[in-house]
Amino acid sequence: MNISRRRFLTVAAAAGGSIVAAPSRALSGARPPAREYGCLVDLALCDGCRKCELACNQANALPPPDRPFDDLSVVERPRRPTDRALTIVNKVAVAGREKPVYVKVQCMHCNDPACVSACIVGALTKEPNGAVVYDKSRCLGCRYCMVACPFQVPAYEYRDPLTPRVTKCNFCFERVSKEGGVPACAKMCPKEAIEFGPRADVLSLARERISNPGTRHRKHGPHVPAIYGEHEVGGTAWMYISPVPFAQLGFLALPAEAPPRLTEAIQHGIFNGFIFPAAAYSLLGLVMYMFRDRSDRKENGGGKGSGSR
Ligand code: SF4
Ligand code: SF4
Ligand code: SF4
Repeated sequence: MNISRRRFLTVAAAAGGSIVAAPSRALSGARPPAREYGCLVDLALCDGCRKCELACNQANALPPPDRPFDDLSVVERPRRPTDRALTIVNKVAVAGREKPVYVKVQCMHCNDPACVSACIVGALTKEPNGAVVYDKSRCLGCRYCMVACPFQVPAYEYRDPLTPRVTKCNFCFERVSKEGGVPACAKMCPKEAIEFGPRADVLSLARERISNPGTRHRKHGPHVPAIYGEHEVGGTAWMYISPVPFAQLGFLALPAEAPPRLTEAIQHGIFNGFIFPAAAYSLLGLVMYMFRDRSDRKENGGGKGSGSR
């Protein structure tokens, strides 16, 4: 059964529960909390118009881009999200395929985020609604999160010498937290290439599109039978379906295991390793202090010189 996209966006956001119209397949396994949201980017539909970039810029009150949003030549050059562009769209030419594929990039809002695990002061948190959000007031500026992210998403405000922040898509947290709220990019997309709803329903929609040959979404060619983000790094809130294999689009082949298990082990090793140097440094400081104290007493013991100055 095909699902009206407008209905999916609006009803899904409002319902916060399973709204996929009579899904033909029941999802196996435990369902996530009802309010854990997700987005599906259908790469068969995106035409690289950059309207999502514009919407994100406006929603986050970001500075104007170097090149205007209606300059579509920008997508020719591979880009990453930056402190001034929390989402970007890249054009990817695929050998043997007449039309290019346009790939929207933003934070994936991992289910078990490496950035959250790497942050030693809790400046990044995974919210119950699926968003991974950043709290500037807690951030030390260590940028461990940038190193830890398997998708190389977080950017840093290097241009701000006084109060630089780590920046990334926040899943339009304020909007999505409100009943019926939809991420600005999903709402703006004129090609209906971004679907928003409870993650379980978004996943059902993705499965339906890749398996149902009757939907209009086949007009750009059938999707490959894969959902990027369903399992990668423990699953992500943002997922993709595509008309060509993800490897040909530069998507990283990542394991299903979430990286925090590894990064936490490394971090704990590092901080355990700090204990001996820190203790040795403290001991050295104490010795130097005592030595200096004894020297001062010796000097003062003469008394005359110091007192007469
Ligand atoms: S994509 Fe990177 S920044 Fe976003 S939640 Fe995952 S680890 Fe964190
Ligand atoms: S969800 Fe919001 S912050 Fe994230 S890319 Fe879309 S508009 Fe930008
Ligand atoms: S607004 Fe939609 S169609 Fe346009 S570039 Fe973004 S995702 Fe693609």
